[in-house]
Amino acid sequence: MLRGTSQLRLSSRLFSSCAVRKMIAPLDASKVQINKTKSPSKPKSNNELEFGKTFTDHMLTVEWTEKNGWGTPEIKPYGNLSLDPSCSVFHYGFELFEGLKAYRTPDNQITMFRPDKNMERLNKSAARICLPTVNGEEVIKLMGKLIEQDKYLVPEGQGYALYLRPTMIGTTPALGVSAPDRALLFVIASPVGPYYKTGFKAVRLEATDYATRAWPGGCGDKKLGANYAPCVLPQKQAAERGYQQNLWLFGPEKYITEVGTMNVFFVFKDSKTGKKELVTAPLDGTILEGVTRDSILSLAREKLSSDEWTISERYFSITEVAEKAAKGELVEAFGAGTAAVVSPIKEIGWGEKDIHVPLQPGKQSGALTEDIAKWIADIQYGKEKRGNWSRVVA
Ligand SMILES: *Cc1c(COP(=O)(O)O)cnc(C)c1O
Repeated sequence: MLRGTSQLRLSSRLFSSCAVRKMIAPLDASKVQINKTKSPSKPKSNNELEFGKTFTDHMLTVEWTEKNGWGTPEIKPYGNLSLDPSCSVFHYGFELFEGLKAYRTPDNQITMFRPDKNMERLNKSAARICLPTVNGEEVIKLMGKLIEQDKYLVPEGQGYALYLRPTMIGTTPALGVSAPDRALLFVIASPVGPYYKTGFKAVRLEATDYATRAWPGGCGDKKLGANYAPCVLPQKQAAERGYQQNLWLFGPEKYITEVGTMNVFFVFKDSKTGKKELVTAPLDGTILEGVTRDSILSLAREKLSSDEWTISERYFSITEVAEKAAKGELVEAFGAGTAAVVSPIKEIGWGEKDIHVPLQPGKQSGALTEDIAKWIADIQYGKEKRGNWSRVVA
């Protein structure tokens, strides 16, 4: 009885405060206001496109406050943000981002590759740093409307795409360290070309154990800006020694986790049974849950014969890779992420010597790396239909 009355009192209090205050608004794509640019740009020719250096004419912004919820989404000319210098993003790193691509299909539709996965991840990142979560479907609709404005800037041709960068920042103008009560979600878009203009170019990696990208109980499995800045110095140091990227190791066991800002896959072959294994690190909280990683695992489980292949998400170390290489059991290795899809690896600097990763004769990748690139491109460019992996957005 008592509990019943207090609940009643609570709900009537809630009701009256709602009646007085504005309702907390959900994110609503149908409310979008569009303010078109007066000076549309000329599309660049495909060979002028550089990754993430030029942007389309419009951007999307939506403000959020704890008090009123999501505001009116706006699509407006691309331009500077105006923020109070005390905003939480500048001092305590309240920032998250996503990266996904939209593709022009042969029948001139614009599709996105598994955008629901990016929205799911955006919400996990947001929850981790006390920023508001979103209704992912509404953001996908809004990105579709943004692309619609700049549709003529989406490049055409295999390997070309519009890279979308959804970002959320805390904008509370105060220096106290606390959960932001104001935030800004914005999306910018960059026309991009193929990561490899003239076929694959296999990379040399430095196995890095003196710096750690992510650790158990940390936030390396979230796409937070704060995870990236500290990884640039080790990358520069590896570059000084002639390696393009870091192969991030973890712990006394020297487990292989990721490469640069990509997930990483290795292929081993048991010299006795001839059986091959495609292996990547498990999602234990230290690995970014790549959409490309997930797509590769699904496709491999479906397309590779289980008589010849084992597909593993398991711990494996640089020592295991070195031992397998010495026995001739290392077949190929590649990084996986939205920007390059797959990025073949040819050498890994570890200790005093380099581990040599085989490539196909006269080529810059292993055979599976090449197959996977094709499987994914066929879905992205609409040659193959696969469930809801490709979403028509404009
Ligand atoms: C974004 C990212 C990836 C790849 O994720 P995709 O969804 O496949 O693009 C992998 N590792 C890190 C650290 C990343 O930031």
